[in-house]
Order: sequence, then structure tokens, then C-alpha cells
Amino acid sequence: MNEFCIFCKIAKGEIPCNKIYEDKKFLAFLDIQPLNPGHTLIIPKKHFQWVYDVVDQGAYWEVAKKTAHSLVKNLQAEYVMFVTWGLEVPHAHIHVVPRYDNDGHPGFIDFSKKKTISAEKMKEIAERIRKQ
Ligand code: AMP
Ligand code: ZN
Repeated sequence: MNEFCIFCKIAKGEIPCNKIYEDKKFLAFLDIQPLNPGHTLIIPKKHFQWVYDVVDQGAYWEVAKKTAHSLVKNLQAEYVMFVTWGLEVPHAHIHVVPRYDNDGHPGFIDFSKKKTISAEKMKEIAERIRKQ
């Protein structure tokens, strides 16, 4: 736990999130500034700075894989992109970004194009993704 880290606080339940999945080691929740509806972040509950620092990579990516399949099945994503950069929050996170026809992004994602989605709609989206 890093007391200054916002994702550690989310992992501990001190800050709310739209939860998608949780197990002993990992947590998936909707990005608060989504690049597309269903944009999910997968984090380890323990604080590691970088994705490649996370212990048990197999289990970590398994959560990303399951989330991607749910985005295709339950949100009708055409396909899903995994991205890791971590310039804003220094706690490992995999961005799981669903792509849709004419979603306003070019071939790769335009990171300046955040979508505005109401809190109510975000809740509804999270519920749909959880139905995996
Ligand atoms: P980056 O560290 O550049 O990979 O991006 C961090 C991501 O975390 C951004 O897409 C933010 O929108 C997202 N983010 C920051 N704070 C929160 C939060 N409280 N809940 C959900 N997502 C967040
Ligand atoms: Zn942290």
C-alpha cells in the first residue's frame, strides 16, 4: 500500500469505482475518463509501479483476457486493445479498450479523445460487463 496512490485507495475500497471483477490479487474497474464505453483498467491490489513488475503475470493477463471477451460478448465490441503506459498513475494498470465501428478513433487509439458518459450509464455499462 502506497498512501499517496489513488489506485491503492481504490483497491482498499477507500475510493469508489465501477467494479467489473475482483479476486484476491486483482481488481478490474471502469476508467473514469473512458476512451470508449467499457474502457476498463486491471490492477494488482498490491502496489507495483509497472505492469512488468507485477507478480503472477499469467493470472494478471487472464483477468484482462476475460474482460476482453466480456466486452465483445456483452458490449458488442468489434475487438479489444490492451495498452499499458502508466504516465499518470504510478500503480500498474492494463488499459482494456473496446473498439467499435466508427468510434471516433483512428486505427490506433487517439488518447485525447475521451468520451463523456453519465454516472448512471457507467453503472449500467459495468453491470453489463460483469455478466461474463
Ligand atoms: P495512465 O497512468 O496514463 O496509463 O492513465 C491512468 C488512467 O487512470 C487514466 O485513463 C485515468 O482516466 C484513469 N483514472 C484516474 N483516476 C481514476 C479513478 N479514480 N477511477 C478510475 N480511473 C481513473
Ligand atoms: Zn498503488
